[in-house]
Amino acid sequence: MLMYNVIVKKRDGGELTKEEIEFFVDGVANRSIPDYQIAAFLMAVFLRGMNARETADLTLAMTNSGDVADLSSIPGIKVDKHSTGGVGDKTTLMVTPIVAAAGIPVAKMTGKGMGHACGTVDKLDAIPGMRTSIGKDEFIQIVKDIGIGIVGQTENFVPADKYTYALRDVTGTVDSIPLIAASVMSKKIATGADRILLDVKTGTGAYIKKYEDAVTLAKTMVDIGRLANRRTSAIITDMNIPLGTHVGNALETIEAITVLKNEASEDLTDFALYVAARMLYLAEAGDIETCEGIAKDMLRSGKALEKFRQLIEAQGGDSAVIDDPSVLRDAGIVTEIRAERSGYIQCMDTTRVGMAGLMLGAGRESKDALIDYSAGIILKKKPGDYIEKEDVIAEFYTNKNEEARSNAKEEYLAAITMGDEQPPPQKLIHAYVDEAGMTEY
Ligand code: URA
Repeated sequence: MLMYNVIVKKRDGGELTKEEIEFFVDGVANRSIPDYQIAAFLMAVFLRGMNARETADLTLAMTNSGDVADLSSIPGIKVDKHSTGGVGDKTTLMVTPIVAAAGIPVAKMTGKGMGHACGTVDKLDAIPGMRTSIGKDEFIQIVKDIGIGIVGQTENFVPADKYTYALRDVTGTVDSIPLIAASVMSKKIATGADRILLDVKTGTGAYIKKYEDAVTLAKTMVDIGRLANRRTSAIITDMNIPLGTHVGNALETIEAITVLKNEASEDLTDFALYVAARMLYLAEAGDIETCEGIAKDMLRSGKALEKFRQLIEAQGGDSAVIDDPSVLRDAGIVTEIRAERSGYIQCMDTTRVGMAGLMLGAGRESKDALIDYSAGIILKKKPGDYIEKEDVIAEFYTNKNEEARSNAKEEYLAAITMGDEQPPPQKLIHAYVDEAGMTEY
């Protein structure tokens, strides 16, 4: 088979066979196909799309391109969650301790930050001493002992995704529904969980900006889960504003701890409880009302917080951060950002908020760049809030020089649209999709 012919077939709108898709994925993983042909293929898929069968074949071929975790020695239904990525998205840290506290094992492999969004591994690495790179046997033992473990992906974890993602990132081919679906689902299936909850973000801070595309993506991934025998459901959630108020690795960990301590805002806490209940439901902990009750109980009783403490200690971290999370907020320079005019914040370009965080040091400007865990932004005002000129609207935490701070400030202010009328409140959760269909809220 020639890669040239596979590219031309897709370029001309043809439907690829399973063998052609496997040929592509094998060639990516064993590095026999050069980057320019991989990139051309990705662009052909971006422009021509893939049908459900092609997308499922691509997903399964990618899943098998590297290590596949075997969690079968851990008793019980293992449930995992995955977000398609957004700004301030600390959902895993808020939710998995609630689920594990309820007795549902969480064995989670998770990624680093990409582009404008911080990754869960980086948020955990912000905790002094925390080990997120641990061997398979120790990881499984931790989950058996305390019911939860969260680690970074191994070197040989879905290599076909690693190589294609790096090329997609620089060839304008990230926001393709079949490519995102295959990227996300190959990783989820390879992590070995029995059930998967997907958090598909939509809005200005998400990879998928349009709600209709998020629905298509969610349905595509739920379908792939069914074909792979991993029951999957999806929630479609809003990313037109950052989730919560803290953006940046340590800052997001701090905010997640406030949720687990029952000290966070009602909307963020309700969001965490909603996601936790859906994970419990997938793990067959009861009907949805029962699961909502269990999630609330775990949070209100402090059991979820205790589970997070156990997780930190089992992975070598300093759990004193739970009692005094402010020790994580050790950026050298804190700057207040003030409003340039009075009025209501109408909306935010959330990708630009994430980019401002990246400029402060919270993200990677290249694949292997070091990040500053302490860097980030605390939003003091969000869309819907009224502000007077000169009010503090955000705090920047950074160790960067004045030029970087000034660029970040310009980016942040450009992200905000002001107006005289109060905008309607924004929904955080738009829809729920499972094998039975879709419910919109
Ligand atoms: N998250 C992923 O894991 N893959 C994508 O392609 C996009 C978001």
